[in-house]
Amino acid sequence: MLDNLHAQITTCTNCSLHKLRTNAVPGEGNPKSGIVIIGEAPGHWEDVQGKPFVGRSGKLLDKTLNGVGLDRTKVFITNIVKCRPPENRRPSKDETETCSTYINQQLELMAPRVIMPLGNTAGEWLFKKYGLDWPGATKANGQSYEVSTLFGKLTILPAFHPAAILRNPNRTEDFQAVFTQLKALI
Ligand code: SF4
Repeated sequence: MLDNLHAQITTCTNCSLHKLRTNAVPGEGNPKSGIVIIGEAPGHWEDVQGKPFVGRSGKLLDKTLNGVGLDRTKVFITNIVKCRPPENRRPSKDETETCSTYINQQLELMAPRVIMPLGNTAGEWLFKKYGLDWPGATKANGQSYEVSTLFGKLTILPAFHPAAILRNPNRTEDFQAVFTQLKALI
């Protein structure tokens, strides 16, 4: 089922972002892990390789996961929007709304116990989905939220987007601490 959905994503033309993409990026990792990490949208290298978080932000994400004994085989990594917006701009509301049909279906199929949204776009979208008010990435980083869903109890554990840590390394320890919390939830 998930494979079929990912095949649909790779050929999707539902919004104008398909016109400039090299590859759509459905996501990768272990869909049965119970943990889904969600970013905003693919960037340059993700578009080239068709994989999520493989550029500088991805290297920091990998290093931080490794720091608590996790890696890509122990989580599932994806984005709200599956094709790269030009110049890495933030996806528009329409693009996010149109593409969110896929992240919604992915979450239904994977039924995670923990979702870690990275940054404001993923955090805002996820909080709205579950009827929560998004306090902003700085306040939300490391706060744990429990919600009831059709597939059981879900913990939402937001973290800064790794790109924000690359811009502001002073927040590295706060960012790493959320992954320690994630490991403790498993
Ligand atoms: S961003 Fe999403 S909705 Fe738009 S073309 Fe890509 S997969 Fe389809």
